[in-house]
Amino acid sequence: MTELLYYPANEYQKEFDAEVEKVDEEKKYIVLGQTLFYKEGGGQPADHGKITWESGEAKITDVQKDHGEIRHFIEGDIPEEGEKVHGEIDWERRYKHMKMHTAQHIVSKEVLDEYDASTAGNQVGEEKSRIDFEPAEFDDEDLEKIEEMTNEIIEADIELQKSEVARNKLEDETKEGRTNLDLIPDHIDPLRAVEIGDIDICPCGGTHVDSTGELGEFKIVDRRSKGADVERIEFVLE
Ligand SMILES: [Zn+2]
Repeated sequence: MTELLYYPANEYQKEFDAEVEKVDEEKKYIVLGQTLFYKEGGGQPADHGKITWESGEAKITDVQKDHGEIRHFIEGDIPEEGEKVHGEIDWERRYKHMKMHTAQHIVSKEVLDEYDASTAGNQVGEEKSRIDFEPAEFDDEDLEKIEEMTNEIIEADIELQKSEVARNKLEDETKEGRTNLDLIPDHIDPLRAVEIGDIDICPCGGTHVDSTGELGEFKIVDRRSKGADVERIEFVLE
């Protein structure tokens, strides 16, 4: 099992050393003993970056969890099993994802409180992100209100806490409708909890900033209906 070095609260480290535990030359991926590279999941894309070692270097173009392995897909040279490599994540890309993902937590919480709508799905991007709410139907005034509420939390520069919490405790503390805990396999205990001050608590395996003040101005750029009861909003951080 690859140790996840960014977890549960080390999301700002950009470089690391690791040993190659497995190489698949045909599919062009490697498995490392430990990693800072985020694997795609929970609506957050994989980290990109590079690895270097004594006699070569390669780009990391994708990271996926498959068959219980964290597979780093590479382009360039291929290291050997047992090789000591140095990894460096594409920080610009990752930091944008951290900010977007944190914004998504805030908006999901605000919309649940204000409109009783749950987050049915979300996709974080570098430039734009989206969240689907259900059941929901927003008018222009609602969108303005969502922007306003979110920017208030950003301006208040509220600290986040990320820690491992016993599953039953987190189940008790998470507001009904905030997330679907049933989707997380039962054997995963403790869970990683992400708290935004005393505003929100939610289980999440993604990466986030340390304080909401890092996000910049939140702006909704699109809203559309995605079926009878589902509304999608798209947002940017300026
Ligand atoms: Zn998250």
